[in-house]
Amino acid sequence: MAGQLREMGYSPVPDEKSADLVIVNTCAVRGSAEQHALGYVGQLKQLKDQKSSMKLAVAGCMSQEPGTIAWLKKYASHVDLVFGTHNLHELPKLLDEVEERGEMVVDVWKTAGEVVEHLPSQRADGVQAYVNIIYGCDKFCTYCIVPFTRGKERSREIPAIVEEVEALAREGYQDITVLGQNVNSYGHDLTPPVDLADLLVRLEKVDGVRWLRYTTSHPRDFSQKLIDVIAQSHKVTRHVHLPVQSGSNSILKRMNRKYTREQYLDLMERVKAAIPDAVLTTDIIVGFPGETEDDFEQTMDLIKTVRYDAAFTFIYSPREKTPAARWEGRDPVPNPVKKDRLNRLMDLQYRISLEANQRLVGRTELVLVEGLSKKNPNVWAGRTHTNKVVLLERDPDVDLIDRFVPVKITQAKTFYLGGEVVGAPVSERSRRRRVELPLV
Ligand code: SF4
Repeated sequence: MAGQLREMGYSPVPDEKSADLVIVNTCAVRGSAEQHALGYVGQLKQLKDQKSSMKLAVAGCMSQEPGTIAWLKKYASHVDLVFGTHNLHELPKLLDEVEERGEMVVDVWKTAGEVVEHLPSQRADGVQAYVNIIYGCDKFCTYCIVPFTRGKERSREIPAIVEEVEALAREGYQDITVLGQNVNSYGHDLTPPVDLADLLVRLEKVDGVRWLRYTTSHPRDFSQKLIDVIAQSHKVTRHVHLPVQSGSNSILKRMNRKYTREQYLDLMERVKAAIPDAVLTTDIIVGFPGETEDDFEQTMDLIKTVRYDAAFTFIYSPREKTPAARWEGRDPVPNPVKKDRLNRLMDLQYRISLEANQRLVGRTELVLVEGLSKKNPNVWAGRTHTNKVVLLERDPDVDLIDRFVPVKITQAKTFYLGGEVVGAPVSERSRRRRVELPLV
């Protein structure tokens, strides 16, 4: 959207007050984010009343939900444009329509069309860039809204992705993340079919790319071929994020995750065997409908078995339109029980995370310095290729931001490492000097 707007002559401004156009780009995965977005749209009414020339649009996954459109029509008539995830390439046309009609334009496609290539793009400066490789999801986990808001899986062709990554590398981007709701099912819909392993092998050959990442993965489609490619690669990072969601077979079945606890554990064993230095992380939902204490204990047991470096933990809340939200009882696990389970789970995981980090003390790691620490301007914050945050004492006479530097790990905490720079940067200075883009 930013690329299209730049071609239309727009440029970013620091806040809404000085904007001619505000686009509220929404996420529908969690109810709290939805409430936040609608609250923000409501707050903008005052500004719209003072400045009628300002155009206000609502985009993203929430726009794909009929309930959101009905709410906006009823309570937010100051919104000029509502468009969804499947037609964002039509943004210039839609803005023209707003000018012509002078009333709220709602244009949301129920289904996705073909993948649109060669849209203009506007990227943040620096050395990190994100490249979509597949859109949509066919998995239909019973708690998830994504298949309804993002539609069926549609993969981009390998040559188009390679061309984009080559152009990025020429511009100085060195840390590339390929993106999709489920990157592990990449390419099954192409003719002839290909897979993520094929794509990564091809991207590995692009000169100038130093680190290659992929997100998000689904354990069901994480193949042995992919494990072998990661094990042999010099660029694909050894961070393997495989959301398990629950350690109980009965809950996994209710979630429609399409794997069992045993299959998942076998997969993790194969990852560990092939990539001994892999950093393993996961996502877990607690309090899913029907989760008993015994189910939860099985999740705890799975964490002890796998020993993740980190886990992103969530309390279940029903999302409208998903199958789980329509089940009888809807959200039967009481909130205090959910919170207690979450706390126990986090206590366990934090202990394991600290132990995993302690094992890195004394090692030398390549760190991409991403910027200054938010809490302390005398400290640089960076990441290893395995996504571990590393804090470094800053030398005010040197600018290491966006550079890859060797760092000796000297300190381990639960959520980050401390280290000291032990050598010169291994990368050239980025040709894309970073400029902070305004975010509201
Ligand atoms: S695989 Fe991920 S995006 Fe797809 S339905 Fe399941 S949780 Fe949602």
